[in-house]
Amino acid sequence: MKVIVVGSSHGGYETVRGILAAQPDTEIQWYEQGDFLSFLSCGMQLYLEGTVKDVNSVRYATPEGMTKAGVHVFVQQAITKVDPAKHAVHVVDQQSGAERDETYDKLVLSVGAVPFELPVPGHDLKNVYAMRGRDWAIKLKAKTVDPDVKNVVVIGSGYIGIEAAEVFAKAGKHVTIIDMLPRLLSLYLDEEFTTVLTDELAAHDITAAAGQGVKSFDGRDGKVVSVTTDQGTYPADLVVSAAGIKANTDMLKGVVDLDDHGLIEINQYLQTSQPDIYAVGDATLVPFAPTGQDNRIALATNARRQGRFAAKNLLGEVAPMPAVSGSSALSVFDYHFASTGVKAGTSDKLGVKSTSVLVTDTVRPKFVPHDAGNAKVWFKLTFDPADGRILGAQIMSTVDVTANINTISLAIQAKLTVADLAYTDFFFQPGFDRPWNIMNVAAQKAVKTLSDLALTH
Ligand SMILES: Cc1cc2nc3c(=O)[nH]c(=O)nc-3n(C[C@H](O)[C@H](O)[C@H](O)COP(=O)(O)OP(=O)(O)OC[C@H]3O[C@@H](n4cnc5c(N)ncnc54)[C@H](O)[C@@H]3O)c2cc1C
Repeated sequence: MKVIVVGSSHGGYETVRGILAAQPDTEIQWYEQGDFLSFLSCGMQLYLEGTVKDVNSVRYATPEGMTKAGVHVFVQQAITKVDPAKHAVHVVDQQSGAERDETYDKLVLSVGAVPFELPVPGHDLKNVYAMRGRDWAIKLKAKTVDPDVKNVVVIGSGYIGIEAAEVFAKAGKHVTIIDMLPRLLSLYLDEEFTTVLTDELAAHDITAAAGQGVKSFDGRDGKVVSVTTDQGTYPADLVVSAAGIKANTDMLKGVVDLDDHGLIEINQYLQTSQPDIYAVGDATLVPFAPTGQDNRIALATNARRQGRFAAKNLLGEVAPMPAVSGSSALSVFDYHFASTGVKAGTSDKLGVKSTSVLVTDTVRPKFVPHDAGNAKVWFKLTFDPADGRILGAQIMSTVDVTANINTISLAIQAKLTVADLAYTDFFFQPGFDRPWNIMNVAAQKAVKTLSDLALTH
């Protein structure tokens, strides 16, 4: 069997890996239009801050390694057309311009997404950058040490925007983060968390300009000098635009079914509307466990899961993609947070009725000194007020307790209730934890809330 995989980031890589592991004698052609195989944007912050020195190490695979494993690797070769009837793709060599057709038995599209370009005057000025992929990584790195860059404006306060802000603040620049939503990180965390993090950002000379819409990027001599919103003007020697992504699916129009956002429609087996064509990654939706609906959650974890299941299905297994919870984690200077599933703040948008309880405590028993790793922890548990089913959670501390969120993700996937979690056995050792883990404490509070709610109805 001959399989063509398009795209060498998370989804493409995992598909290739999955096929190799299950049926190594499969003929695999793996295409990447860029000049670098398998760059991982997830590692960009570590590179920009200097923890990782070599930008070329931020990858899963090299062409040499994959060729050795039996994969036919094509770098700087773009798939520009797909002909489902002929089971063929059109390939254009990005260096020589040479063109050819290749046939496939199965085709996997992991074409991903590109940064969304704000349609405002000045978007094409010099020094308006994005943060995705190796080319931008190299350009951004140069700006971290450019003495002419004093003021940086980041557009968008999702995790990518926050990563960019932290990089440039640590490089000694003054940073402003603009977001049209009323709070920074509001799609990841509720207000009890974002208030603390916004103060933490301010303590590092990062100004939050939330609830503001960008009107223009203003330039002088072709270079950006400021950003104007509906509420003010902010000086900018560099703009990092992290205001969302756009599915990279223009060449698929009229080929496979796309939704209104250009995302490829797939079923639970990762199959598109055309026979033998599968799609995975940021150009698709994923099944969201808390709601049972498909949702747009652009994460490497999801792309890799989908890639693994696409490999299984195209090789003949019947393997539906398991639903995900949308778990993610991030550090904001001294704080580490993680969240999963539904938040109070996203519940309405997702069409879900939810109730939440917040618990603040110390990570370890009170007698353990701060110097020995004890600190305040915030934990918020969100659940269905009708039956107590766990829908989501958020955690934050200056101690790294983010792994708790993986437990909640499992609870969501297993459709557990707050009653199940209230007395789940978690370990206790004062150097690590408290006798009642904070998830037990929150779930016990949630059980009480549920019975109070039942009494009032
Ligand atoms: C700064 C940053 C940090 C991130 N951090 C995290 C993190 O910590 N954890 C996490 O889970 N996720 C993280 N993500 C998200 C994660 O990177 C994406 O979800 C993931 O990259 C999606 O993978 P993908 O395979 O769908 O496609 P993409 O990563 O979008 O890659 C698609 C690839 O396909 C190639 N391609 C597209 N069209 C063609 C074509 N026609 N022919 C040939 N090649 C083509 C592109 O050149 C590209 O290399 C981060 C993203 C960014 C930008």
